[in-house]
Amino acid sequence: MAHPLHAALSEIVGPKYVADSDFAVWAYARDSSGFPARIPGIIIRPENTDQVVRIVKLANRERMPIVPRGGGTAYGRSPGDPPRTICVDLTRMRRLIDLNERNRTVTVEAGMTCSELETRLKGRGLYVHTVYGPADSVTVGGVVSGVCGGGGGRMFSSAGHNEPYVIGVKVVLPGGDVIETGARTNDQAKMFSRVPHGPDLTGLFIGHMGVFGITTEVTLQVFPLPLHERFGGVAYDHGMLDEAYETFCQLAAVEPKPFSLLGLMGPGPKGIARISDWWIVYKVHGSTEEEMEAKLRIASGIVERSVSPKERDSEAVRRLGQQILEYPHDVMPRRLGMWNLLEPLAPRDETLNIVRGILKMMEDEFAGWSGRLRSGGTAIWMHGDQNYLSFPIYHSEADAESREKAISVWKKTAELGLQLGATYCVLDKDIGDICARYFPPSYASLLRTLKRAIDPNNIMNPHLLGLP
Ligand SMILES: Cc1cc2nc3c(=O)[nH]c(=O)nc-3n(C[C@H](O)[C@H](O)[C@H](O)COP(=O)(O)OP(=O)(O)OC[C@H]3O[C@@H](n4cnc5c(N)ncnc54)[C@H](O)[C@@H]3O)c2cc1C
Repeated sequence: MAHPLHAALSEIVGPKYVADSDFAVWAYARDSSGFPARIPGIIIRPENTDQVVRIVKLANRERMPIVPRGGGTAYGRSPGDPPRTICVDLTRMRRLIDLNERNRTVTVEAGMTCSELETRLKGRGLYVHTVYGPADSVTVGGVVSGVCGGGGGRMFSSAGHNEPYVIGVKVVLPGGDVIETGARTNDQAKMFSRVPHGPDLTGLFIGHMGVFGITTEVTLQVFPLPLHERFGGVAYDHGMLDEAYETFCQLAAVEPKPFSLLGLMGPGPKGIARISDWWIVYKVHGSTEEEMEAKLRIASGIVERSVSPKERDSEAVRRLGQQILEYPHDVMPRRLGMWNLLEPLAPRDETLNIVRGILKMMEDEFAGWSGRLRSGGTAIWMHGDQNYLSFPIYHSEADAESREKAISVWKKTAELGLQLGATYCVLDKDIGDICARYFPPSYASLLRTLKRAIDPNNIMNPHLLGLP
């Protein structure tokens, strides 16, 4: 049956950019996780902020739920209220609006992919902090509204949360008003600074998953692209996680941090481990050869003093470091299956406890599933002064039982992470529901109050973050 707003939405963007056929809506039903499909009622592809305003006003009038969509690469699609959901696909909005090299800012429309932005900046010797991947489909608006995590990879970036590099956003609120944050709280100013007149409302639109509005423009800080880079690392035997982690912490504690990326990679749970040893890998950058060499010397000094590693800074360790840090997914076998990714943020002093707890639970849960569930290993990344941990669980989509089991293991381990004191920065539907059970009542209450005030008809991405 045709969506009731098909004609009205077609008037806003033209019929070519509205679709509600099964072919179209099914293509928008999945993301990069193993969670079951959540099918929208209609897809609309606006070209500019004005069209987004008209879509939002219409949806509000008709009480139709909206789910904004960037690249669709998150880990648990927003449900909306199928089959009524209007999925607003922002990928036609991909203009570079302003690059100000003197102020070191770039403003782009939210639907531009990270790789397109990177390519356009690279030509001018600049970079922005974005994600590992899949950069060819992840959008700037999706990243800022979603994880806003650091990455590395083929693009230049550093570990850590990328929130500090967001200068400001333009957002269409659920009622159709448009606001700009940061320095644009003076309507005569350009978007040159995150510091506003009053509270930092940019933060409200970072990691909100689209529950407070649709971001249509993002301003990011740009940096000069360093000319030199080098990789290094240390390898430890399987049983030496304590020693490996001690060296990792010593490296991570150096200030100013010489590394753009630093990670400790190792086995998954016993029985399904593919990598059997622990590897510390790092990457340093420098504008000059001398700067890069000086940073490498700091790292080597610590590595030299490390206790009983298997290999220090050998060619093999450097090569693996480069492979992992440039694009870890290239190091994995191509056909591991579909993943559900568990990504806790952990305080440095509790990391080993959390890692061991999760690995033990996975090992127990995976017993009897040999070959049907696979681990992508364990990664501990320096994430500013905390650690970002990653435990991918793979299953075959052709094996429905293994998918159910993978999701159940993922849920149990996600909950264990919270009980052990971790937090999560990816609050898609499924992880958001689990995290919301751990919100203190006053926090949950403020979130509901804000949502009611900004979105009284609850049209914008309903049912996320434990909200109605
Ligand atoms: C292989 C792989 C590697 C990854 N590596 C990293 C990494 O290194 N670092 C990292 O941080 N993340 C990483 N991610 C996760 C991914 O970058 C994030 O989930 C990101 O938020 C997705 O952006 P997207 O454009 O695909 O958004 P979508 O998946 O389309 O949307 C994500 C959420 O944001 C909302 N949304 C999207 N666009 C807007 C908008 N313009 N306004 C308001 N709300 C919006 C959506 O409704 C949804 O709730 C990885 C994902 C994969 C599959």
